[in-house]
Amino acid sequence: MIESPLLNDGAASSRPGRRWWLLLAAAGSGQRMRSEQPKQYLPLGDRSVLEITLSRFTGLPGLAGVILVTAADPPEGGVRALEAAGLPIHYAVGGATRGQSVRNGLALFRGRGLGGGRNGKGEWVMVHDAARPCVRPEDIRRLLESVDAPDGGLLAAPVRDTIKRVDAEGRVAATVDRSPLMHALTPQLFPVDVLLDALESLLVAGREITDESSAIEQAGLSPRTVIGAADSLKIIHLEDLVIARAILVQQGVLDD
Ligand code: C5P
Repeated sequence: MIESPLLNDGAASSRPGRRWWLLLAAAGSGQRMRSEQPKQYLPLGDRSVLEITLSRFTGLPGLAGVILVTAADPPEGGVRALEAAGLPIHYAVGGATRGQSVRNGLALFRGRGLGGGRNGKGEWVMVHDAARPCVRPEDIRRLLESVDAPDGGLLAAPVRDTIKRVDAEGRVAATVDRSPLMHALTPQLFPVDVLLDALESLLVAGREITDESSAIEQAGLSPRTVIGAADSLKIIHLEDLVIARAILVQQGVLDD
């Protein structure tokens, strides 16, 4: 395991007793998947991608509950299996973009909602792509132990390939120094009120984001990166299911 240079400053002390909510973003339509079902409901072994993803979090300390953001019409049985896990699951309907979906999930903290009616103040949320079942519980645990308010943090993996900047014709304009570059992964962990405010500001301004960290960054904060295993792939295409299955077998989550 490579140590994050960003964690070698002694700031990564344990944060015991943190209470957090898991928000699973599962409202994507899976247009790139060429499949009837959105990717999070496809089977991997005898469970769905979504069930396996949830199982990576359920043994970790401090989990207060699960917020599942789905499309308005999730497939029959697609979410029922989750309830068998015995956790409190709260549902929200997603929006047209990922940012809207996460905002809709966090809106459950507004008013007299989740977290005791304090509009999310004092609560933490871990946002994770439902389509990333290979995330390792030990990486999630290190994230929980490493981030502070208000900036929060995310799992990330160092860029390994040589990176080129290209012009409009696809010709190489420059080779980019990859040493400060990271792939942003999920989960991403933030104080609920900070993330909700940041997302709402961007939505009001009509700005798109592809991860929650971007919203926090645009609010002027600097989330901490915590190195996560690079094999936490996001299932995008049907072929990715084969790779995800092999990774999960290697991790001992699925039988060979
Ligand atoms: O489409 P993409 O691969 O970026 O999706 C990442 C995750 O965000 C998926 O788990 C998907 O279900 C979720 N998503 C969502 N609402 C959207 C778009 C994507 O919850 N409008």
